[in-house]
Amino acid sequence: MKNFILEMEEYANLHNVPIIEKESIAFIMKYIKANNIKSVLEIGSAIGYSAILMASATQDVVVTTIERDENRYMECLKNVKKCGLDKKINVFYQDALEVNLNNVEYDLIFIDAAKGQYKKFFEKFKYFLSKDGVIITDNLKFHGYVGKADSIESKNLKSLVQKIEGYIEFLKDNKEFDTKFYDIGDGLSVSKRKDEK
Ligand code: SAM
Repeated sequence: MKNFILEMEEYANLHNVPIIEKESIAFIMKYIKANNIKSVLEIGSAIGYSAILMASATQDVVVTTIERDENRYMECLKNVKKCGLDKKINVFYQDALEVNLNNVEYDLIFIDAAKGQYKKFFEKFKYFLSKDGVIITDNLKFHGYVGKADSIESKNLKSLVQKIEGYIEFLKDNKEFDTKFYDIGDGLSVSKRKDEK
């Protein structure tokens, strides 16, 4: 398994596939173990690297992961099979914003797809959290650009960074969720529904 993880890291590097930083996935795996997480929904599978590691965190956790890029979806399916985790990982080939979910609940929702759409993902998928479920979001530092949008010249990059900054504000001001921000890897947040009074 260790070798296979290394192979995936090499593949990602060679083919420019963005995958989660080691420190961040270690944090999530620890979170899964410590909080007895049984079900995970991941938005953005890429080649299955984080899904495979999350599914390996404990014996009983299961992962559903959604990917909209066909090549990455195929690669993800192949990798999941190769490491014998096809009973623990369900891979869907679809745009997450078009997925119809019914009668499902997840203990952990991991948002790791198009950065400009984080708020949309959050608003859509928050209805599928179990009672003490959490939403974890990655890349909130966006390689050090977040907080520096004003000094970015490229229009596209600036707009993307502004969207992430907007998402951070949205989390900070959120009336329904409390969010903790972690300076881990590329920046992570863990959002939990506020206790009902
Ligand atoms: N979680 C993966 C890992 O760490 O191994 C990395 C995911 S990569 C940062 C983001 C992926 O999200 C890309 O492969 C992209 O195609 C996918 N993606 C972006 N927007 C999406 C959407 N709306 N629905 C489904 N997948 C999406």
